[in-house]
Amino acid sequence: GGMSTTTARRVLLAAPRGYCAGVDRAVIAVEKALEQYGAPIYVRKEIVHNKYVVQTLEKKGAIFVDETEEVPEDSIVVFSAHGVAPVVHEEAADRRLRSIDATCPLVTKVHREAVRFADEDYDILLIGHEGHEEVVGTMGEAPERIHLVDGPEDVANVKVRDPEKVVWLSQTTLSVDETKETAAALKERFPHMIDPPSDDICYATQNRQQAVKEIAKEAELVIVVGSRNSSNSKRLVEVAKENGSRDARLVDFADEIDEAWLEGVSTVGLTSGASVPEILVQGVVEWLAERGYADVSVHTSTEEHIQFSLPKELRRDLRS
Ligand code: SF4
Repeated sequence: GGMSTTTARRVLLAAPRGYCAGVDRAVIAVEKALEQYGAPIYVRKEIVHNKYVVQTLEKKGAIFVDETEEVPEDSIVVFSAHGVAPVVHEEAADRRLRSIDATCPLVTKVHREAVRFADEDYDILLIGHEGHEEVVGTMGEAPERIHLVDGPEDVANVKVRDPEKVVWLSQTTLSVDETKETAAALKERFPHMIDPPSDDICYATQNRQQAVKEIAKEAELVIVVGSRNSSNSKRLVEVAKENGSRDARLVDFADEIDEAWLEGVSTVGLTSGASVPEILVQGVVEWLAERGYADVSVHTSTEEHIQFSLPKELRRDLRS
């Protein structure tokens, strides 16, 4: 009724949003491998958790597989940004595969911490989501020492050998606030537990959550562009809902938006997960403009300048 129909319709675009340095590097690694060695290039698991990215690379000649054994012997395989357990490197060597490891350096950092604490005979409480590829990879570094803790409600179930010798680590793409809660609950059970040497939740996850928090205060609806299997994208939806927006939705593409969501909405907040190309966000901007949401402004909460160099196996060949 009355007021809302006359209110200006606008879009608040969060910044930073979209591609992080680890995703950018992983996608470029597959593209460069295709240019350097020619198709097909095998990729174990989705290189990053985004439908559009996977479809685009498939068209260029990448073949996505779930397991190393699906890759023909002597071919080239790229490991995804989420990282792999050491056993996967062994499987690849057994099949004489040439592997290019596109694991994000910030995931590798958590693997190294896990190895170090396992060597020092700690029990490691890994906060993360059951079944997520990153968690599977990290746990593979020390399966008998790492215990998964999937949120605050899972804390009561944790069993360790020696409560005096416990450390917690985490998946890189969790909710910052929920992880604090889980860590606090663990600390209550294990007062001697030590903290990770530095934040395991990566800069990109933290920055995107902060940015969406700030726009959620002003937007009745927040649209997050991202895929259903993208952990960091799903967290953005939750953070938006917990921080003031009446409604928050995850879509892969603009055509998944339901016009009914816009009812009574004067400000739409818009952001995207770390694995989402900007072209998909622009698709949503256009879709909204066609429905009267033509006034677009960007809300920047912080600037990002991080970049990672390409996987070393690839850099070597690109040079020669
Ligand atoms: Fe790396 Fe973070 Fe991006 Fe994951 S979300 S690829 S950990 S920078």
